[in-house]
Amino acid sequence: MAKKGRVFSGARPTGKQHLGNYLGAIKNYVALQNDYECVYCIVDVHALTTVETTQDLKQNTIEMALDWLAAGIRPEDSILFVQSHVKEVMELHTYLSMVTQFGKLTDLPTFKEKVRQQPDNINYGLVGYPVLMTADIVLYKSDIVPVGIDQAPHIEFAREIVRSFNYRYNTKALVEPQVKHTEILKVVGIDGKDKMGKSLNNHIELAVTAEETVKRVREMVTDPARQRKTDPGNPDVCNVFTMHKIFSPQEEIDMINTECRKAGIGCVDCKLRFASNLNKNLEPFRAKRAELESKTDYVNDVLIDGAKRARTIAEKTMAEVREAMKMP
Ligand code: SF4
Repeated sequence: MAKKGRVFSGARPTGKQHLGNYLGAIKNYVALQNDYECVYCIVDVHALTTVETTQDLKQNTIEMALDWLAAGIRPEDSILFVQSHVKEVMELHTYLSMVTQFGKLTDLPTFKEKVRQQPDNINYGLVGYPVLMTADIVLYKSDIVPVGIDQAPHIEFAREIVRSFNYRYNTKALVEPQVKHTEILKVVGIDGKDKMGKSLNNHIELAVTAEETVKRVREMVTDPARQRKTDPGNPDVCNVFTMHKIFSPQEEIDMINTECRKAGIGCVDCKLRFASNLNKNLEPFRAKRAELESKTDYVNDVLIDGAKRARTIAEKTMAEVREAMKMP
């Protein structure tokens, strides 16, 4: 079946992935492969704007790629590669930076947020982040970028940069990417309040053992108003119930929904049921991960091949870009 276009998406190398990564991005990446030609990039250069050391960068890249592959990214269909392996992106980033107004970059809410987060490290790369992101997207002639509603302005900004470039050099060399609105599930961590993430240590890793998963699930915060087992609970405000709705069979969800409200089920029992269902769901992923991990150099080979295929597209784009710019 003919594909509907080329999708591009990138994520920083954060190492072993957790439930938030899976439900918020990877699951969607896997599904998109059925209809689109997909280019998935591990953006290690972007990571340099915030990381203090590169000591774990390589390992984090491998672990993340391993999780993506085990979750269902098919390297025979999709291009999976590392951003820094295709050097053309640095060149395009430089050219695009010449058609981007500095004031617009410093006005972006994401930049202001970063300044608040790391006031002692407001580096040049941080300001140019959206330009490098635009280079990532357009270098591979991507038609579509899947983003949540809150990220759509970033893609609009990328479109503006593309228009400025095409206008200045009177060319159609760069393609304006379209937004594909995607429902990005905000997964709450085991603390029951913040978004799941490694920095807050409120995450559940996909690749841990079944026993570790049970331990982590037992730590989950439930309905804060329910103090004792004999108190009725409210599943509507409980993160464990939210997770049940994703991973448990419907009859179990219905049972908990009814029994929790009349104190017919305790939170420990409820959590253990969730942990068991989660482990069942993750079994194929964990088996696949172990299999891929046992193949020496498998992930490296996938990433090398991905970079080769990505470079073929990038070289063509850059030839058109240089010609349009009349570069000597
Ligand atoms: Fe949450 Fe389950 Fe406890 Fe109800 S019984 S408060 S749904 S953990």
